[in-house]
Amino acid sequence: MTKKILTYIDHFHGKAQPSSWEGLGLAVEIIKDLGGETAALVLGDGVNELADTAFQYGADQVLLADSPLLKDFRPEPLADMVAQAAREYQPDLIIFPTTSRGRTLAGMAAVDLETGVMVDVIALDWEEGNISATRPIYAGKLLAKLTCSTTPQIITLRTRAFTKPEPDPSRSGSVTDLDINIDEAGVVTAIASHQEKGGGVSLSDASVIVSGGRGVALNPTLEPPGDLDEAAAEIWKAEQGFALVQGLADVLGAAVGASRAAVDAKYIEYDHQVGQTGKVVSPDLYIACGVSGAIQHLAGMRSSKVIVAINKDPDAPIFNFARFGVVGDMHTILPPLTEALKEYLAG
Ligand SMILES: Cc1cc2nc3c(=O)[nH]c(=O)nc-3n(C[C@H](O)[C@H](O)[C@H](O)COP(=O)(O)OP(=O)(O)OC[C@H]3O[C@@H](n4cnc5c(N)ncnc54)[C@H](O)[C@@H]3O)c2cc1C
Repeated sequence: MTKKILTYIDHFHGKAQPSSWEGLGLAVEIIKDLGGETAALVLGDGVNELADTAFQYGADQVLLADSPLLKDFRPEPLADMVAQAAREYQPDLIIFPTTSRGRTLAGMAAVDLETGVMVDVIALDWEEGNISATRPIYAGKLLAKLTCSTTPQIITLRTRAFTKPEPDPSRSGSVTDLDINIDEAGVVTAIASHQEKGGGVSLSDASVIVSGGRGVALNPTLEPPGDLDEAAAEIWKAEQGFALVQGLADVLGAAVGASRAAVDAKYIEYDHQVGQTGKVVSPDLYIACGVSGAIQHLAGMRSSKVIVAINKDPDAPIFNFARFGVVGDMHTILPPLTEALKEYLAG
């Protein structure tokens, strides 16, 4: 039975989220097995180049809506466009990445299309014409198998759970322009947008993450400047601790993560938080420094391929999940470790 799969290409101002290509790669793999075709859905303003890239990553066809009306991320018109594209293309399956934009549009389009959504999927099988999707539940302690009896079936894929294909610059395909009928009445208007300074390696897409927890501020040998009160001294200590975490991350080309305790204490911004109420990450290597390994933190990183923990408490729960553990003070371990890795990687 041949299949049609539509993959939503999530992007920010024309820059694609790599996880969109993982979705397209999965679509291509399924079509190889079952026969059929894949289409990429590209919505935005000035996104023609993304359409070309989608062909390189395996799309046979691109459904395109390129208009200044779609410049800002406004969920209502974008979800309408997803539903419209689905009605025209009639896919069996629609794939989104599990980004906040992807999740929002998947849910809203599912309501329009009167179907369900299976979120945060890490594995997929076809059984008797229906998809059976696997996703972690209870903070990653169990895996649930889900099916959905309505079509199109909609899934969001956990970032880095599926392989990103190699682009093939020689590929091309047909572009279908979608009609854009946006009723501005009743639709949110974007008055202004503000971009956080961000920078560095993106946490969601990083193959290596170095994370800091409350332990970054716990260096008893460090003397803060005398004019700081207790709260300011704690932040100052945390800054020194996170500078060590950042130093190691720089050498490894890694992103910097954090526990919620570190974020709540204002040691670092929220967009670094890993866990149940932060980002869910699956890097090849996750180095946790001064992180205890609470269940809510594990929920965001336990699917990392290799976990390394540096903690001065030998009974810290993180050691139950770490492939490699170092018992000791992160403030004394990180500087020589960073230096040694720098030398090693320089050849
Ligand atoms: C609803 C809910 C949602 C939550 N969501 C999240 C979430 O998304 N992400 C998250 O992280 N947490 C989350 N939490 C909080 C979570 O329960 C923990 O409180 C938090 O993860 C603890 O952070 P931590 O490991 O940095 O701090 P702690 O638990 O205080 O651990 C600090 C660790 O540092 C070690 N340490 C201290 N000094 C040093 C040193 N010098 N060198 C090396 N090690 C040292 C200590 O031995 C200890 O193990 C959530 C909680 C709730 C209730």
